[in-house]
Amino acid sequence: MPIEEKFIHFLHALHLHRNQPHGSHSRITGDENHQAHEVFQISTINALLEGVYDGDMTYAQLRKHGNFGLGTFNALDGEMIAFDGMFYQIKSDGVAYPVHDIQKTPFAVVQFFEPEFHVAIEQEMDYEQLKDHLQSVLPTMNFFYAVRIDGFFNYIKARSVPRQIKPYPPLVEVAKTQPIFEFFDVQGTLAGFRFPDYARGVNVPGYHLHFLTENRKAGGHILDCRLQYGKLQAEHTSNFHMELPREGAFLKADLSRDQRGVAHRVEE
Ligand SMILES: [Zn+2]
Repeated sequence: MPIEEKFIHFLHALHLHRNQPHGSHSRITGDENHQAHEVFQISTINALLEGVYDGDMTYAQLRKHGNFGLGTFNALDGEMIAFDGMFYQIKSDGVAYPVHDIQKTPFAVVQFFEPEFHVAIEQEMDYEQLKDHLQSVLPTMNFFYAVRIDGFFNYIKARSVPRQIKPYPPLVEVAKTQPIFEFFDVQGTLAGFRFPDYARGVNVPGYHLHFLTENRKAGGHILDCRLQYGKLQAEHTSNFHMELPREGAFLKADLSRDQRGVAHRVEE
């Protein structure tokens, strides 16, 4: 389908959607003149699962492609979360550190975030309910979405990953020893993406969200949460730009393996 036609379909879906009644706990607004941004990704999730933990892109370069997103660092040194142009590194001590331009990433997903969906959530929701709710407010699950939720969370279960030394073990091995952090009654921000099912192997299908506390001191990759109230924002895009590493372990990694089960355990 040509892109114009796709976009018209989207607008139509959006229009229909805006005219549908929603629950008392949600309100949705959409900007029909919205220009979709490009989601920019370094490497593939399967390469990360296979232990390709070093990349050649610096954060200085990555910032040119977005002010919002998630990822990791060379040697798998923690979880990255970015929003409002601020990038943070949550190391295995659970502490959030500012990211320096010279740091490099083997896997990251970013975009310039300009949300067109704004939904107030005034009803308590666990992670599954939150995902279901998102599904009910977004016009199609076949686009890429950047998703941000600012709110008060009764509970957050997050993890980070410890810095690895060579030879690098696969991510499934690292995940067995990943530190897990729990937060109770905390204000903060979830930032990340929803990728369609067909993106499997390239990115994490479904939701992939990282968390940062409001004081920007702690966070991690989300495993579970319970939102009490908050504001949900999302932006769709149908423009996906992926850049692969040009040298190193990526060239030799076996990316033909079906990692569906592993990706589900490790990243979703
Ligand atoms: Zn993550």
